[in-house]
Amino acid sequence: MTPTASETPDRLPAACPACSPDAETVHEVLSSGGGDLTVRCSDCSHVHKIQPERTRERSLDVIVSQDGESFSANVTTPAEETIEVGDEFLVETEEVLSTVRVTSLEGEGEKRFDSAVAEDVETVWSREIDNVSVDVTVHPQDGSRDDSRSVTVHVPGDYDFTVGESEGFGDDEFTVDAIVVREDATGYWTTRFEQDGDAVAAKDAKRVYAYDDTSSAWSAW
Ligand SMILES: [Zn+2]
Repeated sequence: MTPTASETPDRLPAACPACSPDAETVHEVLSSGGGDLTVRCSDCSHVHKIQPERTRERSLDVIVSQDGESFSANVTTPAEETIEVGDEFLVETEEVLSTVRVTSLEGEGEKRFDSAVAEDVETVWSREIDNVSVDVTVHPQDGSRDDSRSVTVHVPGDYDFTVGESEGFGDDEFTVDAIVVREDATGYWTTRFEQDGDAVAAKDAKRVYAYDDTSSAWSAW
């Protein structure tokens, strides 16, 4: 979504109340201010004020989920703008300034879309991606999958997880084994990466699977 640019042309067509109330004539824009344009008719030189033609705008409720919490904000966007799951934009309220990613679009009657023009959308569901939480399933190296544990790590959204690389978070140390990509992430050719060197940004990672590095014994399984 992009903010609406308000551009004032030097000349524009408008009806002239003095010489041509029913058909447009060319008008020169003399000044703009207070939401009105002061214009001069090029046919009769009559000076009058008109309302500028504005881009139709749509005000959308944006629900932002942020680390298990959520807050709502309001964003104004051109009504013809297409919004898609995966789109990223800035949400600014008195409390927060966050980059968010669209996770779902909701229209009238709770209808859900992956892509829609803004005028058909009522609520944009999104999540913050500046800083994210990623769930990591850590398998013990002795192969006892039943003893797997789950940890949640907090990282910047653009932090890369790479298959085959070791990570340390506090007392947790593990080597990444596989990464599952979120449904709202774009630009990945598959949803699961498990080749050494494959990297996924934290904001795109649904879950990371890893081997525990804190236990010393190693056995292939
Ligand atoms: Zn005129």
